[in-house]
Amino acid sequence: MKFCSNCGKPVDDNDAFCQNCGAPCGQQENTQFTAPVDQPQEYVQETVYQEPQPNVLGLGIAGLATSSLGLPGMIISIIARKKLAAINGPLSGQNKAAKILSTIGLIVGIIMTVVWTIDILIGIIAGIGAALS
Ligand SMILES: [Zn+2]
Repeated sequence: MKFCSNCGKPVDDNDAFCQNCGAPCGQQENTQFTAPVDQPQEYVQETVYQEPQPNVLGLGIAGLATSSLGLPGMIISIIARKKLAAINGPLSGQNKAAKILSTIGLIVGIIMTVVWTIDILIGIIAGIGAALS
């Protein structure tokens, strides 16, 4: 049993028009459900640029190996660290190792540069002292 949308009187399900007021009913009463339209999902093309990562491990090792010399180790370690800093994204395993090596190389390089500088200065002063005596 339905009710007329116009006058509110009960209307037989099979009646196309209301018996009381003559308003059309039947199909009109049906609520039309609009099925949710499946929107085509925008295909987002993720262009992941996997830039070939330069391997700085060799430079890191060289920096640490020469760090006892002072300045050369310091310079090589700084270059290695600059190259590592220029890399976008996560570092590869070897470059992570290079970062540690270049950090140690830089610290040792700075210390040894100071040590060598003092050593050379002492040598110069001693030389001057010896020359003057
Ligand atoms: Zn009616």
